[in-house]
Parts: sequence; C-alpha cells; structure tokens
Amino acid sequence: MTRMPHGTMREAVIDTDAIADNVRHLRRLTDAEVIAVVKADGYGHGAVRAARAALDGGAGRVAVADLNEAFALRRGGIDAPILAWLHAPGTDFAEAGARGIQVGISSYDQLQAAAAAGHGDRPVTVHLKVETGLGRNGIAPADYALVFAEAARLERIGQLRVAGIFSHLSNTSDDEDRTALSRFQVALAGAGSYGLRPEVTHIAASHAAIALPSSRLGCVRIGIAMYGLSPFADRTSADLGLRPAMTLRAAVAAVRRVPAGQGVSYGYQHRTAADSTLALIPLGYADGVPRAASGGGAVRIGGRTFPVAGRIAMDQFVVDVGDHPVAVGDEAVLFGDPTLGAPPVETWADAAGTINYEIVTRIGPRVPRREAGA
Ligand SMILES: *Cc1c(COP(=O)(O)O)cnc(C)c1O
Repeated sequence: MTRMPHGTMREAVIDTDAIADNVRHLRRLTDAEVIAVVKADGYGHGAVRAARAALDGGAGRVAVADLNEAFALRRGGIDAPILAWLHAPGTDFAEAGARGIQVGISSYDQLQAAAAAGHGDRPVTVHLKVETGLGRNGIAPADYALVFAEAARLERIGQLRVAGIFSHLSNTSDDEDRTALSRFQVALAGAGSYGLRPEVTHIAASHAAIALPSSRLGCVRIGIAMYGLSPFADRTSADLGLRPAMTLRAAVAAVRRVPAGQGVSYGYQHRTAADSTLALIPLGYADGVPRAASGGGAVRIGGRTFPVAGRIAMDQFVVDVGDHPVAVGDEAVLFGDPTLGAPPVETWADAAGTINYEIVTRIGPRVPRREAGA
C-alpha cells in the first residue's frame, strides 16, 4: 500500500524529465524546431518549470497566449525567445520590446502598435499571424498585401523585425488541414514577394505535427504532447511514445465502515450495495476535479481502481471500496501514467464530457505542484 507523505493532503506531481523526454521524442519524430507552448501556466504543470524542461529537451523557443504570461516567464529566468499572440485592444508593446518578447501580430493596427514600440537600435520582433480558415485571430487574406507591404517597409527602416509567419489549424480532418496549409503557402509566397524573409514559419500544433508531416515546415508548436498527453481521441499517450507528466493524487482523509443501503454525498446518487468501506478523497471541483465526472471518474488505491461514488463536492468526494483494505493516509491516484498503473486522465475527461487538455489545465491553485524527485 503506497502512503502519502505525512502532512500532504493533495498534490500534482510533475515529472519534468517526462516533459524533456517528450520534447526529445517529438523533435526526433518531426525533425523540426520545437516551440514549447506553456500558456495557461504550462497547461497546469507550471509555466516556468515546463519551459525549462522543454528547453532541456531541445525546444528552441517558448510560446504563451498573452504578454503577462511572457513577462512571468522572463521573471522566472527563461531567456529563450518567447512568443505571445493574444493581445488586449490598445496594448502598448513597449514592455514587450524592452523584455525581448516576440509579438504575434494579427492586424494592421497591431503591426503599427508594435512598430511604435521599437527604436532604431532595438526593433520589436514580430511573427505575423495569418488567418487560414480557423476563424479566430490572424490577418485576413484580404489584408495580407497591405500588412506584408507595411511590415516590409517597417523592417527596412529598422522599426521592427519579422522573425516568423504563422497560422493555426482546426484539426477538423486531414483534408481541411491540407486546405488551410495550402492557404498558408499562398500567404508565405505573398510575404516573400514583398521581401519578407522570416527565420521560421509555423502552422502545426501537436495534432498536425504528429499526423500531418507536410505541415511541419521545419518548426512546430507543441503543447499537449509535450505534457505527455495525446491530441487524438483514438490514440493513447503510449501509442505516441509519450509519458504523461502530471500525476494528481491525494491522501485518503477518512474511512468509514457502513451498512448496505448507505447514501453517499449530496443527493444520495450512490447507495452502498452491501456492507462497505467509504474512503474520503480531499479533492473537489474547487480543485478542478469536474463535478460532471461524478460517478465516472476513477481512483487508484492500493493497486485497485474504484469509481467515484456519488456527487463530487467542492472540496471532496467519496469512493466505495467495498472490503478492500484502505486506511487514512493511503495514496489515492486520480490520474497519471497508465503504464505505471494510474488511471489515464482521459477517464476523467470522458466522464466529464471534455478533453484531457481541460482536465490538467483546470487543476486549481489549492493543489500544490511538486516536481517528481524533489
Ligand atoms: C494552444 C496553442 C497551441 C498548442 O496546441 P496543442 O494542441 O496543445 O499542441 C499551438 N498554437 C496555438 C496558436 C495555440 O493557441
């Protein structure tokens, strides 16, 4: 029986070696430069530690959604190139320029704002984001010529530097992604005709980087796969040669022997079928364990896996372990690396009607992160 360390109620154990190994594996597989995507606190794993591990594994760059995330990485000592692509209207890019953050540009106005923050001796570095069908942000095809021409002019006068051109795929189907990829090629040719010569072009995230080799273009943006999780509904982490980096676990907080017919948790959605032992797990929806997974989530205790019994509450939920010997302080694993016996995070995602991305990203601030081996 594995016991939790004394005094630890709940924790997410982060295996940074797994992140580094996953990046190594993906670099080999794709033969491309890896931009490690560590937005949303590194998908819940901790942005700085995820970035460090990814860089150890050979990632060349780091990316986040917004500038505050980028500044937090700089404060955390990450000095690799950092790209941020989602900006508030009216953002002043001076601090981004001063901290050497590369700015994703989705419109003519953003281009002008970024250029205004540059100086002759220190131009702001940008990656132009072009819309190729996803319908989110990105320069509209009708504006390609205008923006490329202006970017080339601003580059010539030393106001900014275009280091990259990028887009994002929908993963709807290989055919849809190929169509978007061909639109991207048109955009790249257009940019070239205005004299833009970016160091990198990138369109593939984890899904396409693995499934659509023609989308790799020498540089891929990897999020979910570097955390060891699969972007495919029908392929597991192990199928892809990846190791899940996060293990969510808690110490059994109480055990109670009850008779048959005992109702469990709000609404008595579960009643014991026979004399049974109930184990209390101190994690709830405040910690990101979805209430929608009530009855469907799985917990590994003492070498056996049990379903959640009844409703998941804000701070805790119950498992009905029958006659299995369980004691206060035993380790209860909600998810981790299935090759080591832990339930896969996908069990929780399926039970809650969502995807693995959302489960790990929403693990809340009340759950301390601890690095494996630390
Ligand atoms: C989140 C994100 C990624 C990473 O996607 P994964 O599917 O996690 O690899 C890449 N590019 C953009 C623009 C994103 O928003």
